[in-house]
Amino acid sequence: MEIKKAVCSQCHNNCPVQIRVEGNRLLAVEPDPDFPAAKAFYPVTQACRRRRAAADYFHHPGRLNYPLKRAGRRGQDKWEEISWDQAFDEIAGRLKEIIAESGPEAVGGTSGTGRTHDEIRQRFFNLLGSPNHVGMGAICYGPQCTMAHSVFGWRIFPVVRADTKLAVVWGGGGPNYWDVFWSQAKKARRERGMKIMVIDPRATEAVRHADLWLQVRPGTDTALAMGMINYIIQNDLYNKEFVDTWCHGFEELKARVAEYTIAKTSEITWIPEEKVRQAAEWYGTLTPGVTSHGEGIEEQAALVEVVHARYALNAIMGNVETRGSNVFAFPYPDVVHVEEVAAHERLSPEQMAKTLGGDRFRLISPKGFNLITDTIRNLWGREAYARTAYECYAHAPSFYRAMLTGEPYRVRACITQASNPLLTQGNVNLVYQALQKLDLYVVHDFFMTPSAQLADYVLPSTTYMERPWIWSYAALIGSERALPKTVPGAYDRRDDYDLWRELGIRLGQEADWPWESLEEYYDYRLAPSGLTFAEFMAQGRYLAPPKIVGRHEQDGFATPTGKVELYCTTLEKLGYDPLPRYYEPPASPYSTPELAEKYPLILITGGRVQPFYHSEYRQVEKLRKVHPEPQLQINPEKARELGIEDGEWVWIETPLGRITQKATYFTGIDPRVVHAEHAWWFPEEEGAEPHLYGVFRSNANVLVDEDPEICNQISGGFPTRGMLCRVYKK
Ligand code: SF4
Repeated sequence: MEIKKAVCSQCHNNCPVQIRVEGNRLLAVEPDPDFPAAKAFYPVTQACRRRRAAADYFHHPGRLNYPLKRAGRRGQDKWEEISWDQAFDEIAGRLKEIIAESGPEAVGGTSGTGRTHDEIRQRFFNLLGSPNHVGMGAICYGPQCTMAHSVFGWRIFPVVRADTKLAVVWGGGGPNYWDVFWSQAKKARRERGMKIMVIDPRATEAVRHADLWLQVRPGTDTALAMGMINYIIQNDLYNKEFVDTWCHGFEELKARVAEYTIAKTSEITWIPEEKVRQAAEWYGTLTPGVTSHGEGIEEQAALVEVVHARYALNAIMGNVETRGSNVFAFPYPDVVHVEEVAAHERLSPEQMAKTLGGDRFRLISPKGFNLITDTIRNLWGREAYARTAYECYAHAPSFYRAMLTGEPYRVRACITQASNPLLTQGNVNLVYQALQKLDLYVVHDFFMTPSAQLADYVLPSTTYMERPWIWSYAALIGSERALPKTVPGAYDRRDDYDLWRELGIRLGQEADWPWESLEEYYDYRLAPSGLTFAEFMAQGRYLAPPKIVGRHEQDGFATPTGKVELYCTTLEKLGYDPLPRYYEPPASPYSTPELAEKYPLILITGGRVQPFYHSEYRQVEKLRKVHPEPQLQINPEKARELGIEDGEWVWIETPLGRITQKATYFTGIDPRVVHAEHAWWFPEEEGAEPHLYGVFRSNANVLVDEDPEICNQISGGFPTRGMLCRVYKK
């Protein structure tokens, strides 16, 4: 039996782990006691159910083991096993034909989170000449990154220190999401009385530990932030020195928020006045403070505006780049960074201009990103790294519409990796029709999924345990390891590097893929540090970046004005309002009262459901037993009014369609709001069409609209929190 060191990639906590392996079998994944920050991780890793079920997942009989080619009609679940060479040859051959007929932009890709080498995929597409790859970045941390780059000149990262007096957990970012941050916040509260403020429409696990909970009406967080800013300014609580020295546009911000009195803020947000006042007072007096980067706020319609307002709140209190507040996360300097590998400069301006949705949703697009990164490069000497991680490329809803309608041109081929569009994209019925139109659909995954059932080729992927990896998220060169292939000789799973390289070589990119394996590629990336990948592993597999706080005092901020831009000149240059602005969600009891008569409840989706990770792990029996069915959280008072019993299956309906979930009485939600779990499918059921593992039955994204008209007009994100629905008995 051997023990191998690794970084768990089964969720974004990325815990350092040690893996027990016997021969080619994974026995167990355990917390790693030797890792430099082991203490901070230990309780999280120890408690994790996914970790404990890792062997069941890894050796699951449903894993894909060999390349499959469709043998029946699309969706019939009839497959023939083929070799990788045949798969690569045939896929590349078909891509060549499509490119010759329709140009490289007719080839696109979809990706997910934390499972793939994003820079490698982007390299392939950049060399190919297609800007049309999409991820979930526009509703997942992308806006926080791009706005942080626009406002502060770099990404801020909340770190709880001994002097932190307040931790704000806003729209998630606490337990079940970012557990390491959360355990540090809880510890600080327990040991020295640091306050925790939670802003969330639901009484989540975090609320149990909160000193103040603001139960905000979904989609109105911008008004809350503006109300808090106004109160802090009116009561002279803001950090004058920081504002005078380091903020651009304070007077404009002051004028913009002036109408958001406590009373008005309360009326909009449904939060009682005394709580809004207390929140503003705490935020204005308990410094330094940190704000978690919860993603709930990025899944509402006004997502850029709320992130902007939240950053302005951070800034006027000087909660930026001081110990105990939100600080810049530095990259480790002596490596080749992922952006350089991604070869963005190889995509010509003509092809870049064809980015689907890029002209309309300009912030999270090449246009916005190039503007941001020009300034950042001046100070940091390199580009911001959000492009690679958060897909500043095509706009996903525009991408699927182009597939379906051919407007402005047809996307004809798509390669899906680490994503499951039928579960993760809004308006599932539209995505379903769009995927049917493809001339070539390739899916690379661990398991057969509803989306994979619609593919022409399904390719088996290695998990993080079956391939080496340098994990550099959060600007650390994290630890890595290599596990052998699960059962060499019996199965033939490959990592994404192989996929992109082999296709690239067949499509004329030979000269650009000099590294024959991931290890060789990592040798190249580590070369500036003087280490090979093997030496890096042997010497502790961890390189920490320098800890510098307050660099702006010397160099200023990497924004066009050199200051924190409360008034955001980047947004202005892109043709948008440079200040935070509140507006009603596109569908709400106030913006669409007629619609609200038919659909009287506010629907939110997307809250994290343990032990799952979005659409993953539902086939692992041990994990599924913990949470076997999809649940709709509904206030008992409202449920009784509707004649709905606790535990009863109900219909949830929006103008787009209806799904069914099990009503669960939950007093921690406003009677006017319900929460439906997302990403539900049933891997144990029939895979062939029309059933597709029951993907249309309980999948909240059937209900979610992503029409470009209702997307955030700056970034293109579509709202999954704050729609209108009705709930009724089956
Ligand atoms: S799945 Fe569990 S062990 Fe793995 S990174 Fe997440 S919390 Fe840590």
